[in-house]
Amino acid sequence: MNPLRSLILAAAGNDAVRRAVATAPVSREVVRRFVAGETVASALDVTGDLVENGLRVTLDYLGEDTTDRGLAERTVQSYLTLLDQLHDTGLAVDAEVSVKLSAVGQSLDERLALDNASRICAAAEQGGTTVTLDMEDHTTTDSTLRVLAELHRSWPSTGAVLQAYLRRTLDDCRALAGSRVRLCKGAYAEPASVAHTDPHEVDLNYVRCANVLLSGSGYPMFATHDPRLIEIVAERARWHDKAPEDFEYQMLYGVRPSEQARLTAEGHVVRVYVPFGEQWYGYLMRRLAERPANVAFFLRSLAGRS
Ligand SMILES: Cc1cc2nc3c(=O)[nH]c(=O)nc-3n(C[C@H](O)[C@H](O)[C@H](O)COP(=O)(O)OP(=O)(O)OC[C@H]3O[C@@H](n4cnc5c(N)ncnc54)[C@H](O)[C@@H]3O)c2cc1C
Repeated sequence: MNPLRSLILAAAGNDAVRRAVATAPVSREVVRRFVAGETVASALDVTGDLVENGLRVTLDYLGEDTTDRGLAERTVQSYLTLLDQLHDTGLAVDAEVSVKLSAVGQSLDERLALDNASRICAAAEQGGTTVTLDMEDHTTTDSTLRVLAELHRSWPSTGAVLQAYLRRTLDDCRALAGSRVRLCKGAYAEPASVAHTDPHEVDLNYVRCANVLLSGSGYPMFATHDPRLIEIVAERARWHDKAPEDFEYQMLYGVRPSEQARLTAEGHVVRVYVPFGEQWYGYLMRRLAERPANVAFFLRSLAGRS
């Protein structure tokens, strides 16, 4: 892993750094670039603006690795409130939610996570929208796909996420090509025994997986900011005779907004992944670790120059 990325990820786990960043007055500005505030109201404001600009949205209530039933319940309640308000504001047509099973109790008990995810799926259905289950590190993949299979019995539109860096993913794509699948490169530090570690291999696998998903009857969602992959997906979609509404691109809030606008103007469906909530720190650190330019932006802000 690149040393800067390791350093930032180490800082993410350091309490003193966390306190300093969280309380620095300029942090709020930096956070605002990648996170849609701490409350449901602020998330709805950002969603409204994006939808007005022709984008779709998936909302993520920040929080992961919950080992506390009370916290898991608070996360479920936040999703239920959010889904209610998406419905009431008419935004549910264009906005769905993304859920991390670890935030609703997966590490405590898979059954608890299934029950909690079912409550969120039921509320989403009632509100006129749907749910995508984020994918976390490889030790949770089997459990997450088992929960997904259960959810598919009642809510077949529930989306999965598959990570191109995992060696198993081509097979998972074949199994899920008839449903909604978000394909991403993968964001966790994984061992070579389970994951491709050469970025070029990851990209090649992304294209193989994209071909499988595009040849299926489901709805592929291509989550990447990578210009080469975006272009290859467009070419592969034409080759597979897919219309623009048969698949979508997804990008993170605050990352390549001009590319999001360009693809939308070209007639593509683009969905923005919008995180919100009080637990923004770990998410922000992962975004900074992904890209040196983001770190420069952050440091300039801390120095009061941006
Ligand atoms: C909508 C969405 C949902 C996701 N969900 C999950 C999930 O559930 N599980 C999971 O493990 N991971 C998830 N990820 C993260 C994903 O796995 C990658 O870690 C992340 O997207 C970075 O990979 P990339 O494909 O964008 O390409 P990278 O390899 O990070 O970047 C490739 C190229 O993209 C361009 N680029 C990237 N960032 C920028 C930028 N800020 N400005 C300008 N150009 C840029 C550059 O040209 C760069 O060389 C998700 C990502 C997105 C977009």
